[in-house]
Amino acid sequence: PPDVEQLGRATWTFLHTTAAYYPERPTPTQRANMLSLIRALPLLYPCSHCADDFGEDMKNNAPDVSGRAGLSRWLCERHNEVNAKLGKEKFDCGKTDERWKDGPTD
Ligand code: FAD
Repeated sequence: PPDVEQLGRATWTFLHTTAAYYPERPTPTQRANMLSLIRALPLLYPCSHCADDFGEDMKNNAPDVSGRAGLSRWLCERHNEVNAKLGKEKFDCGKTDERWKDGPTD
C-alpha cells in the first residue's frame, strides 16, 4: 500500500500549487475541469479512509471553483480539517500564496 504521509505531502503540493495558479476568472470549461478533479478525489484517492473522510467533509463544504482566491481558501480549509483530525497545527490561510505561489517575501 502507498505511504500515506508521502502520498499526502505530494498530493497537497499538487493541489495547493494547482489552486495557486488557477485563473482569477476561470472559463466555464476550466471550472468544470477543476470540479471534476476535486470530485474524483473521494473516488480515486488511494488511501480509502482518507478518501471517505474527505468525501464526507466535501458534502458539508462544497468546492469553490469560482476563482484562484476562493479555491485556494477552500482547499486550505479542507487541509486544516485534515490537520485537526491528525492533531497537526492549523495553517494560516492568509499565508497560502506565500507558501505555494510567491515564496517568502523577506
Ligand atoms: P502536510 O499536511 O502534508 O502538508 C504539507 C505542507 O503543506 C506543510 O508543510 C505546510 O507547509 C503546508 N500546509 C499545511 N497545512 C496547510 C493548509 N491548511 N493550507 C495550505 N498549506 C498547508 N493522513 C492520515 O493519516 N489520515 C487521513 O485521513 C488523511 N487524509 C488525507 C486526505 C487528503 C485529501 C490528503 C491530500 C491527505 C490526507 N492525509 C491523511 C495525509 C496528511 O494530510 C498529510 O499529508 C501527512 O500526514 C503528511 O503531513 P505533513 O505534516 O508532512 O504535512
